Formats: sequence, structure tokens, C-alpha cells
Amino acid sequence: MTATSSRGAQTPEGRERLRVPPVLMYHSISPSALPDPHRVRVHPHRLDRHLRLLRRLGLRGVSLAELVRAHDRGTAAGLVGLTFDDGYTDFLEHAAPVLARHGMTGTVYVVAGRLAGRNEWDDGPRLDLLDAGGVRAVAAAGHEVGSHTLHHVHLRGADPAVLADEVGGSRRVLEEVLQAPVPGFAYPWGEFDAAAAEAARAAGYDHACVTGDYLPGDRFTIPRFYVAPGDGAPQLLAKLARHSWRMRGVEAPGPVR
Ligand SMILES: [Zn+2]
Repeated sequence: MTATSSRGAQTPEGRERLRVPPVLMYHSISPSALPDPHRVRVHPHRLDRHLRLLRRLGLRGVSLAELVRAHDRGTAAGLVGLTFDDGYTDFLEHAAPVLARHGMTGTVYVVAGRLAGRNEWDDGPRLDLLDAGGVRAVAAAGHEVGSHTLHHVHLRGADPAVLADEVGGSRRVLEEVLQAPVPGFAYPWGEFDAAAAEAARAAGYDHACVTGDYLPGDRFTIPRFYVAPGDGAPQLLAKLARHSWRMRGVEAPGPVR
């Protein structure tokens, strides 16, 4: 066994590898019976069961900003990050009440150039996105609003002008809407490369999260895992366990492939 600090090891670039608690990634929370070909919809009752399970495990769901702040203070044990991508209007109607019931918060990653629009970046079904008032209501309810670019574009391999616009421009839009700093960013589809992570840092974000990837796993590539529409307690427990296992894996001595 090799001892490592609770703050984690170094990435090959010399950045701190964050040893953070698990972060769950949801999208739409809705009882809708519409087709869900991209598997982005979790029923509110199921979200309720997930949060009840977390409580039984002695865990509390928080926004990613709170999770990272707690990590920085060395007090992140017992927390789980809860994130909701794309900024669907159903967050306010169906997710926020469930979170409130359990005394938990989350982060909503908003597509800043599509406020009051719809998810035009995939082939449907079309879902409504929060408008500026809705974004403010999310923040007023105690949740974090983070950025998910201006137009939900692919950032891996994007040219510098697109990166600056989509990553930095979206932060400026949301800060204008909220009249408050926006510290968090999530890469659409979890797709990132070194240039995209650097763009997030350069745009002034405090941290950013990806999907699935555990490397490099620094402050601008924090791993998350996808919660599927049908995930029950066994699946969620398995994902939480896998997170611990992978966190240990990325801290193992020597190269990790
Ligand atoms: Zn997305």
C-alpha cells in the first residue's frame, strides 16, 4: 500500500489530481412517458429513491461547487455531488422539490446560448430549457448554476476562437443573468481535451467536470458517472463502489492506463 494525501496525487502535467467523492450526472427529471432514446430522463420517484439511498448510506448530496469547496478544506467526506446537465425546465418542477425534501442541493449546467430554447443539439424528443428567470429561480432555491457552453457544441478539437466563445462567452452570459460568479463548467457529452480544459481555466472557472473519464482527474477534469433511467439501488451502489475503486486506481503508484 502506498499512502497518498487525501488531496490526491499529481497528474503528468504536475497538477493536483483531485480525490473527490462520487459525482452523479442526471439530465431530465420528469414523469413524462415520451420516448427517451438518449436515456436522459429519470423519473422523480426514482430520484427520490436514489436520494433516500444516499441518506441511508450517511451521504449528503451537494452541488459540485460545494463539493469542491469542501474538498479544498479537507471536509468532503460524506458528500456526493449531484449534477443535472442541459438546464431542462423540469428541474424546477420535478427535481428541486425532491432535493429540498432530502435537504440536498445540486448543480444545473445550463446551455447559456439556448435560454428558453430546446435541446436542438440532439435529434429529440424536444425538451424545454430554462429561461433567464428559471435560471435565477434555480439559484434562488439554493442550487448552483454552472455553464455547459453557449450552444452545446463538441469541444474536443475545437479551434481556439470557438473554445473562447463557447467556454468563456457562456460564463459571461450566466454571470450577467445571475449577477453572481459562475465557478463551474461541464463539457458537453463529457468531451474534452487539454485545450478545452485550458480554455475553462483561462475563462476564470474554478473547476470543470467530465463524464466517465478518471484521467487526468484534476480540478478541470473532475470525473462524474452517468445515472441511467432504470438505475435502482443495486446499480447505484455498484457505481458508487466503482468510483471508490477507480479513485484508488488513479492514485496507484506508477503509470495508470
Ligand atoms: Zn449536455
